[in-house]
Amino acid sequence: MKLNLYEEIKALTQELVAIPSINKEPGGETRIAEFIRDYYKKIPYFQAHPHQVKMVKTKNDFVDRHSTYAYVKGTKGTSSKTVILIGHIDTVGVDDYGPVREYACNTQELPRKLEEAFDLPQEVLKDLDSGDYLFGRGALDMKSGVAVHLCLLNYFSRHPEEIDGNIIAISECDEEDNSKGIITLLDELVQLKEQEGFDYVSCINADYSTNENPDDENRYIYYGSIGKLLPSFIVFGKEAHVGQAFSALDPNLLIAQITKNLSLNTEFCDTKGDEVTIPPISLKQEDTKPDYTVQTALVAHSYFNFFTHGRSPEQVMDLCKAVAVKSFDETVAYLNDQYERFCHMKSVTFTPLPWKTRVYTWKEFHGELVEIHGSAYEKAIGDFAKRLHKAHPEMDLRKFHLNVVQEAWKWTKDKSPAIIIAFGSIFNARIEMEGKTSKEKALLEAVEGAIETVRPEAKREIKTRMFYPYISDSSFMAVCDDLLALKAVEENMPSWGIKYTHEVDKIMKINVPVVNIGTFGRDGHMMTERVDMHHTFTNVPNITYETIKSLLQ
Ligand SMILES: [Zn+2]
Repeated sequence: MKLNLYEEIKALTQELVAIPSINKEPGGETRIAEFIRDYYKKIPYFQAHPHQVKMVKTKNDFVDRHSTYAYVKGTKGTSSKTVILIGHIDTVGVDDYGPVREYACNTQELPRKLEEAFDLPQEVLKDLDSGDYLFGRGALDMKSGVAVHLCLLNYFSRHPEEIDGNIIAISECDEEDNSKGIITLLDELVQLKEQEGFDYVSCINADYSTNENPDDENRYIYYGSIGKLLPSFIVFGKEAHVGQAFSALDPNLLIAQITKNLSLNTEFCDTKGDEVTIPPISLKQEDTKPDYTVQTALVAHSYFNFFTHGRSPEQVMDLCKAVAVKSFDETVAYLNDQYERFCHMKSVTFTPLPWKTRVYTWKEFHGELVEIHGSAYEKAIGDFAKRLHKAHPEMDLRKFHLNVVQEAWKWTKDKSPAIIIAFGSIFNARIEMEGKTSKEKALLEAVEGAIETVRPEAKREIKTRMFYPYISDSSFMAVCDDLLALKAVEENMPSWGIKYTHEVDKIMKINVPVVNIGTFGRDGHMMTERVDMHHTFTNVPNITYETIKSLLQ
């Protein structure tokens, strides 16, 4: 293999892991961004070109945190082609390490501490004894990937004559929550396009990958990215004292029926080619009653992870509405059936319950209120949302949506039970690579060629797939859905323009095909998180290197 960066990447990974950078924890994400900035500043090329390294504070954020980027301009020719490397520097928390949490970021000590404290599963012990894996929070997801990109940029800074074009490496914060790092950096990328004349051709992410099933020893490279939406169901019921239970429409019953119809229902898998998404699963289900009372609940809500390969946000919303209508129908039928039996048991006359199926998307509900109340409502709900955001900038996006929808509900005259569906979280766009455009073709060819070059010495079988199966910041590098379909996100998100905006205009100015040439390991987000060192410190940099060389030849 051309590059032997194993020891360099390993050492840098250990240093990066040693800096705790848990998402949202004060100071952590800034400290690691500073470390990366200082890493670049020690390199002679960047000492000569100091303005090509920059640390950037996130915008519209309640946490003080930063990302760092740097770029190298090739000297082989005059091409303005530019390859973007991205990698996130934040990690999830360390509570899962329990009694050994203080060693979570200590790659040297952690394996022994884990062995002492826990009965580790056989496969973990096997990897531990092999000496092939590095353990630690963020080792796999994805500080080793960031280390690969840093070392590659360092290499090209010393060999700019090898590339006709430019490379920019972004190390961004807040991937694990709201992607404010990469969203903020869209501005920088657009600005560099104008100032430096960068013509973005591809984005290479190095986020983590893992085996597809327990015995799977393949390593994977993924083109494109899975998309993710978070449909949220907010159910307004009718409360009653438990003594008159049949006069209630318990929103918990209705929300449970939605869960039954949607959760892990394979009808909602999105198949493209031979790749299938995981079906939706519930990530929250609760009512809004703060404490125990003998009154039934008035409002309940739930939200679901909903992956996409080919479906647009509009199609997902249509599917969710159909599920809500079906669930409402079934609940009303069930209640009438039980009430009829109950009347029979008590020998009283049965009269059907008053419930009628009533389902809205946020777009429909909000639109109806605008039609009825006009600007008075529009201004009031807008002001409410702005005030709420100002008073509680840290408020969870999903909770924020629930609050806005509940506020809007106050304006409706018809207080009969209803379901309102909104999109609850940031929009992770699906990115499909069909090889249709010249940029897509170039990236596909470059990666295939790179794998062929590396394969004889890779010691691992390397396969390619379409759609990176975990959500990542790659979703902010391109837009695949048509703009009209994307409108469905905007119109169904109560926080749009106040707490969240998917910056389509900026993304369109970058709009590059993406590939994930990522770290490989096991148990991401678990205390046994570990990275395969041979693949990640030898194969990954070489495949990335060959891909860049081919794109910028
Ligand atoms: Zn990650």
